[in-house]
Parts: sequence; C-alpha cells; structure tokens
Amino acid sequence: MSGAVHLTVDLDRCIGIGQCEMLEPEVFRLDDEDGISRVVDGATLDRARAAEVVERCPSMAISIVEDSPSG
Ligand code: SF4
Repeated sequence: MSGAVHLTVDLDRCIGIGQCEMLEPEVFRLDDEDGISRVVDGATLDRARAAEVVERCPSMAISIVEDSPSG
C-alpha cells in the first residue's frame, strides 16, 4: 500500500463516459442530471489504483489531490 489519496474531477473536462464509475463505483458517481462524474464525499483510493483510474479517463478529467491524508 502506498497510502490513500483523494481524487477530483474537472467538471469542464469530464464527458460523462462513466469509465471511472465502472472502475470504482464507490468513489465516482455520474450525476443524475448532468451526467458528469462526481467524487463521492470523503472517498479515497490507494495511490497506485488512483493513478490507474486517472490514466483510464479518456478526457483526462480526473486528478489526484496532492494534499491528501496518507491514511
Ligand atoms: S472517466 Fe473521465 S470522462 Fe468518463 S465519467 Fe469519469 S471523469 Fe468523466
């Protein structure tokens, strides 16, 4: 484990593909109204997994919040 990190979605970049929600349904939720992904409040991922999800977003809308708590 390399520590848990928070993530954020750039709402202007997200195109609502839902890849993130498919990979991590506990962390990402597509909004019912605008179809854009939101990070669930307080959700964290292991850093390695977070990096993978960041990479898989087709519009590069997801990023790791670097002042995350380490646990
Ligand atoms: S994978 Fe990226 S573009 Fe697709 S819903 Fe998630 S944040 Fe948006």
